[in-house]
Amino acid sequence: MSLLVVGSVALDDIETPAGSVKSVLGGAASYFGVAASFFVPVPVRVVAVVGEDFPEEHVKFLASRGLDLAGLQRVPGRTFRWGGRYGASLNQRDTLFTELGVFEHFEPKIPPAYRDSEWVFLANIQPHLQRSVLEQTRAPRFSAMDTMNFWIEGARDELAKTLAVVNGLVINDEEARQLTGESNLVRAADAIRALGPRVVIVKRGEHGALLFDDDGVFAAPAFPLREVRDPTGAGDSFAGGLMGALASHGALDSDALRRAMIHGAVLASFCVEQFSLDGLRNLTRGDIDARFEEFRRLTRF
Ligand code: AMP
Repeated sequence: MSLLVVGSVALDDIETPAGSVKSVLGGAASYFGVAASFFVPVPVRVVAVVGEDFPEEHVKFLASRGLDLAGLQRVPGRTFRWGGRYGASLNQRDTLFTELGVFEHFEPKIPPAYRDSEWVFLANIQPHLQRSVLEQTRAPRFSAMDTMNFWIEGARDELAKTLAVVNGLVINDEEARQLTGESNLVRAADAIRALGPRVVIVKRGEHGALLFDDDGVFAAPAFPLREVRDPTGAGDSFAGGLMGALASHGALDSDALRRAMIHGAVLASFCVEQFSLDGLRNLTRGDIDARFEEFRRLTRF
């Protein structure tokens, strides 16, 4: 079993009502890879790019979580940097800055040893680059992607071409509405499934996530936390938990997808309890299993 993620590895500045941090480890591929690493017994394969300023301690941390970093390119220039600020509700965030740096010319090169990856996650990058990753792999069992408003507005045709060849889409509610023009999320998911992906997952922040597949709809709550310090990376941690759980189970039926949704929600809940990836740093499989059981109690009636 092999799991590949392609996306950003970044340095983030984050401000939330609980505090602020500067130049901390971020990026979709970092959150995804670390979250997934708790599920799969083999190293999660990462394809990303960083600049010369990327601290070695972050490389060491990612490697310590068993990530396979052979596909992490280090090139001259500055690492992708992103700054975000959250208001009191934590549901809304303002992007303070996006400095693309070496990410601007990122072209994912899938090392030959990664081309047989059975499970592939295309984090938020240009849709044509997401498609190029799929073209470089040999028919994965399941491929899923994320996207964002920027590509929905500016690269709609490319996005449609990529949606036509991917198996799953993980998207937030506002983007699902924007992509389809449907304000109703059930209709929006139907419309997205008509574009290609068999599995559509709509993330709704603190309100949880909805799964739409051949068997209908499944709702996963978000874990009710007493304190949320930093929502950054929740979506990517969700996707990492979901894909990691699917890959480790090796099945794609509705039961497996539903369990994987809860594993995604578990990882997202640990992520938002701390800044950056700190909520995932000292996590154990025991912590994950205990919270999975708490989810059972939360939803049983
Ligand atoms: P999320 O909170 O799930 O949207 O993920 C936030 C992470 O995505 C942060 O660590 C950022 O470094 C990264 N990020 C923000 N904007 C972009 C972008 N345009 N492309 C790729 N990654 C991004």
